[in-house]
Amino acid sequence: MAELEKTGCPNLVTDGYDLYTRSFVPGHSIYGERTVEFEGREYRRWDPRRSKMAAYMLLTGGCGGLAAGDLVIYLGASTGTTLSHISDIVTEGEIYAVEVSKRPFRDLMDNCSDRANIIPILGDARDSMILDGMVSRADYLYVDIAQRDQVPIFVDYMERFSCREGMLMLKCRSIDVAERPSSVAKVARRYIEERNLAVASETDLDRYEKDHFAFHVKGRDL
Ligand code: SAM
Repeated sequence: MAELEKTGCPNLVTDGYDLYTRSFVPGHSIYGERTVEFEGREYRRWDPRRSKMAAYMLLTGGCGGLAAGDLVIYLGASTGTTLSHISDIVTEGEIYAVEVSKRPFRDLMDNCSDRANIIPILGDARDSMILDGMVSRADYLYVDIAQRDQVPIFVDYMERFSCREGMLMLKCRSIDVAERPSSVAKVARRYIEERNLAVASETDLDRYEKDHFAFHVKGRDL
């Protein structure tokens, strides 16, 4: 294996091909991922074919603005694959992870119960009360819910929680199965910009995840 080196993202290293996050819970693999050692610490390989955030980071060389101390809202956490890597990155922050389906949520609880920076929430992101009493403001919003209304949900959360920035993993086929993905992405971008949010980058994830685009968006205060 090539030599590992640090990236501009906290707790994330690369060997020039793959990404690895520093294990928040050493010795615990979530999805059979390989582990390596760097500077005496365990790191977990982050598979870009199983995580759109890893695909985004490999394709752009950036980390979408994630910081180690961020309070993150994560909508569509599923079984916790990507969530676990974000948990490795935001070691001084916390993640409110919402998942609507009971079955993946059960696996998420098994996978992430020993990660102290994750607060798992079983519920529907469309329920405007879902985070009441827990979060009033967030640094970072991550949305990966593959629903028809994923774009308005993303923008509503960006506004409601005054997020500094956010990442929308747009599944184009969930919005319009017949339309070209690039056209769906264009309409999504216009919607975000018409709500006065700035798109910092738009990345076609096709190499790793067909018909998906990643939108890195800056909040209104920036
Ligand atoms: N983000 C996950 C990862 O990378 O490991 C994969 C997410 S998967 C593409 C989409 C998830 O969003 C599913 O688990 C689905 O149950 C969940 N979901 C869909 N609609 C939702 C909603 N309204 N509220 C919360 N979760 C939702």
